Amino acid sequence: MFTIPEFPDDVTISSITHTEIVNTSPKMIGRNARKDNHGITSKERLVRVFTNSGHEGFGVTRADANAIEEHEIAPALGANPISLLDPQNGIVLYGIEHALWDLIGKITGKPVYALLGESRRDVVEAYDGGLYFCDILYPDQGLKRIEEETAQSMEAGFNAIKMKVGRGHMWMPPKEGLDRDVQAIRLVRQIIGPGTKLMIDGNNGFDVEGAETLMDLVGDQDIFWAEEMFPETIEDYSRFRTFLERRGLDTLIADGETLSEPSPLYPFIEQRLIDVVQLDTTTIGLSAWWQLADMCDRYELQSAPHTWASRFAVYATAHLAKAIPNFLTNEVPAYEPDAYRPTGFTFANGAHTVSDMPGWGLEIDEPMYESKYRSSERRWKTG
Ligand SMILES: [Mg+2]
Repeated sequence: MFTIPEFPDDVTISSITHTEIVNTSPKMIGRNARKDNHGITSKERLVRVFTNSGHEGFGVTRADANAIEEHEIAPALGANPISLLDPQNGIVLYGIEHALWDLIGKITGKPVYALLGESRRDVVEAYDGGLYFCDILYPDQGLKRIEEETAQSMEAGFNAIKMKVGRGHMWMPPKEGLDRDVQAIRLVRQIIGPGTKLMIDGNNGFDVEGAETLMDLVGDQDIFWAEEMFPETIEDYSRFRTFLERRGLDTLIADGETLSEPSPLYPFIEQRLIDVVQLDTTTIGLSAWWQLADMCDRYELQSAPHTWASRFAVYATAHLAKAIPNFLTNEVPAYEPDAYRPTGFTFANGAHTVSDMPGWGLEIDEPMYESKYRSSERRWKTG
């Protein structure tokens, strides 16, 4: 159940805007097992909700402007924001959900996590999710490039890193690709040392036999989790689970980022065939994740939502992490926004601290927004 905070009666939503903003990565992001180069920029859809009281909340959504016009504008414009928070389901106006959490937090003076529950942790562990196939992107540098990017990640203060594997699925001959995956994993482990978490992500570029072959070759590298190694079926996940147990490997099985809603994962959760649940924060929304985290807790599974490639999702996930019992680690994509700043967040020793600022603790860079994004926004208002 969501708690409904005390809220003024006379506040109503007066206008809503939707704009596409651009995030930029300091480094070019290459391929993963299934997708070509990800590039230097990624886009987010920014929603701002304004009230008659002069308050504003904002957040990022996956919904485009037409979807918001169709589903959210009529119920939201003129409504008291608190009437849109349902005790059972949270905020179900998907396209403007994250902006509403911010708005309710700002009006009640509470950080978003405090609207979800008691703080369960002071800091939120994070990992660098940006180690793609940079050896293929820069063939002249090859493994040297992996070495460099890994060292940069450690210098940036991370003590957990995830690397893409599965070069042999589309980009290299299978045997060569597998050999490179193994070399790359061993190299990264050597650079980060034994105390740093190392995860691998196959983006479903293996089949179960291929995943087992890889794990046999890197089982001594202390892989913290293996993510989306092959498309999930009960049969293959049961087999992989048994394989890991027989080998005595404590590598966790992570999955779920491609799902648009959690129910296809329920059989895997109920049979405990996965260890780490990874649905994407902005794809399903904060309210749905808060409810999913409750299920994960009942089955003693860990939560580690997918955030790539939304920097906003990192901050929203950090609030979620404060309020749920079973949070593991927060994915940090390479892309950074210019339209807003994480005023209320600090990052040190591989973890974020979330301030007690009302709302998300994020701040729009108004001059930047005005010059770069205002002209392309869609706006809806009362009257
Ligand atoms: Mg992934």
